[in-house]
Amino acid sequence: MQDWKKRTQLVHGGSRRSQYGEVSEAIFVTQGFVYTTAEAAEARFQSLGDDEFIYARYGNPTVRMFENRLSSVVGYEDGFACTSGMAAVTGALTALLKAGDHVVASRALFGSCLYVLQDVLGRFGVEVTLVDGTDNAAWDAAITDQTALVFLESISNPMLEVVDLAHVVKVAHAKGALVIVDDAMATPIFSYSAACGADLCVISTTKHVDGQGRMLGGMICGSKDLIRGPIEAYMKHTGGAMNPFTAWVQLKSLDTLDLRVRAQAGAAMEIAQALEGHPKLNSVRYPQLPSHPQHDIAMQQAPSGGTVLAFEVKGGKEACFKMLNALQIFSISNNFADSKSIATHPATTTHQRLPQDQKDILGISDGAVRLSVGLEDVSDLIADLTQALDQL
Ligand SMILES: *Cc1c(COP(=O)(O)O)cnc(C)c1O
Repeated sequence: MQDWKKRTQLVHGGSRRSQYGEVSEAIFVTQGFVYTTAEAAEARFQSLGDDEFIYARYGNPTVRMFENRLSSVVGYEDGFACTSGMAAVTGALTALLKAGDHVVASRALFGSCLYVLQDVLGRFGVEVTLVDGTDNAAWDAAITDQTALVFLESISNPMLEVVDLAHVVKVAHAKGALVIVDDAMATPIFSYSAACGADLCVISTTKHVDGQGRMLGGMICGSKDLIRGPIEAYMKHTGGAMNPFTAWVQLKSLDTLDLRVRAQAGAAMEIAQALEGHPKLNSVRYPQLPSHPQHDIAMQQAPSGGTVLAFEVKGGKEACFKMLNALQIFSISNNFADSKSIATHPATTTHQRLPQDQKDILGISDGAVRLSVGLEDVSDLIADLTQALDQL
């Protein structure tokens, strides 16, 4: 499996075929497993083989196919599938941290990640320092010998800040800290967490993996030692394991993941280029545009800027809402990475509760729009955005 290219791994990686020789991967809707003898049960509870299962909260054949396939595509040895992206983030953090530990994280974080770090972990005596993720000197200063763990989004949601991941990993590892990367925006196809040496990568499979807005899911990817060690121990006892039906749907979605993500990312670049310099916009932000503040490092890390872009409409909230309400193909919603294109107004929805000073720091202005580019024809999408902007 190691030698296969991503496209091949996405279709065949981690397959487990039953005695019936099915072509399409089977869905094992079972929470338990029977043992031929009492001795066999005892042996399995003593030491679990790679192809042996005890209880679906610990593992299930369909879920294991999904874990093996997705983690190998992202460049890791193993994975643990979770009920949602947030179950993966929370599980990875709580499995590895204890009271008194110090965590350094980028400040441009998804709201729920910020809640887990500051409110939840804070209550259990974990100290969190937030830094400007784009400032290497800020990471250098914040990561100390006391730091146990570093957490960041490789590309931030919603304003697409890009972290110099190789630098952060080097500094963290020099101080003995583990690095966890949230790759929701980077996508499993363009993820560079493994290449940069990040210890764990967490993925909201709700996003590109499902890709059709159907179901929540998450995955923690890492070395076999970490995944089948502290991560599995924590996840299997606390109950955040993915159910077999979700694993099966998302496993089948992997067949087309590369095709979908590349098509959506290509369209995102075309839209970013078409919108840049538009008289009704203050700015367009997309990592692949040379005008992006971290363009150089973004392009060193990945060949694409991903499937999401952001822009700022002139005239604040009023003009912005008028434009959003005039869109005919883009849906006003708050998910991203769906095959249907989506427009989000972060300041009044996903980031509504963020204090104004933090919105200002992160560039989440009243005119800011996040666009998730779907699988429609890109010329239709550009025409839709253009007619909506023309109404201003
Ligand atoms: C969506 C998202 C999550 C959470 O994923 P869910 O599957 O919705 O729980 C975590 N981090 C980032 C960056 C996200 O965009």
